[in-house]
Amino acid sequence: MSIEALQADHYLIPLPEVLSDSTHGDITHFELITVRIRDGDGAEGVGYSYTVGAGGAAVHSLIARDLRPLLVGQDPERIEALWQRMWWGLHYGGRGGLACLAISAVDMALWDLRARRIEQPLWRLLGGHDPRVKVYAGGIDLQFPLDRLLRQTDDNLAKGFRAIKMKVGRPQLHDDVARVKAMREHLGADFPLMVDANMRWGVDEAIRACRALAEFQLVWVEEPTIPDDVAGHTRIVREGGMPIATGESGAGRHQLRRHHGVHEDRPPRRGVQPAVDLARRARRHRAPAGGDPERVLPRGAWLRDRALHRPTTGDRGRLRGGAGALRPRHQLRLAGPRARARALTAA
Ligand SMILES: [Mg+2]
Repeated sequence: MSIEALQADHYLIPLPEVLSDSTHGDITHFELITVRIRDGDGAEGVGYSYTVGAGGAAVHSLIARDLRPLLVGQDPERIEALWQRMWWGLHYGGRGGLACLAISAVDMALWDLRARRIEQPLWRLLGGHDPRVKVYAGGIDLQFPLDRLLRQTDDNLAKGFRAIKMKVGRPQLHDDVARVKAMREHLGADFPLMVDANMRWGVDEAIRACRALAEFQLVWVEEPTIPDDVAGHTRIVREGGMPIATGESGAGRHQLRRHHGVHEDRPPRRGVQPAVDLARRARRHRAPAGGDPERVLPRGAWLRDRALHRPTTGDRGRLRGGAGALRPRHQLRLAGPRARARALTAA
């Protein structure tokens, strides 16, 4: 069996309202890059990656022009070997960033193809530990006025979410503190609440922020500073006293190895294979919270993107916390009028 065809597409997804965080400013649309891989039997696997508005055309080009020739004719079952082939095929132009987004979309399509061929959902293929996952609602809401933030929160509660993440990183720390305080009061003492600073702070600022936010018992503070500053993260964990999640913007599979304990995984940015690597490492390093910089956060046990649990055979899965049913089909069918997606390029 070999890969017969690979098609890459690039879409703009307009957002129903302008979103914002501390580093990207106003976000009016997402870009979606899809990959469809078809084997000799006609079975098809679909993968995707995305951006918050820029770089999608380059990702599409990397897949269509550079990765496709490396994949067509190859055995789709040799996923790890194909991952290495793609990695070394692109490494001179970049060992992370856009190259990783491109590889991730293909990697996901290969796993999807494998799951479909054996008619099993991916979660079962990856070990079948538990069909239930905890999910959280991740708000991109830094500029929302407080009443809008609380209204969004109520909407998410009504949808069944039992954990919520909000943005921090406003110019004045006391603004962040006031908004988190209001959310904590709104949600109650034990409700899982996380914050995401999107790398807004330097190390000392992050330590100050963590100390100021400590009383609100957050599940984690996400991306307090750039992921490249590993020593800085160690200081933030030790001196700030808060659980830290990072790695989202350190896109490379290998880049994350420098972080011993603060992990974040997101298959559309790294692929399924690296996510499996991370899960294994998380299991090895897992330790109780309490200021140990080697601890691993349980983000691997939470799911925002849903990709790993995307059912492939009509198995809808169950979401712990009652966040609603997963879509029975993958999320990449954009032809319908609801998607409002615009195909930019096709190859
Ligand atoms: Mg984030």
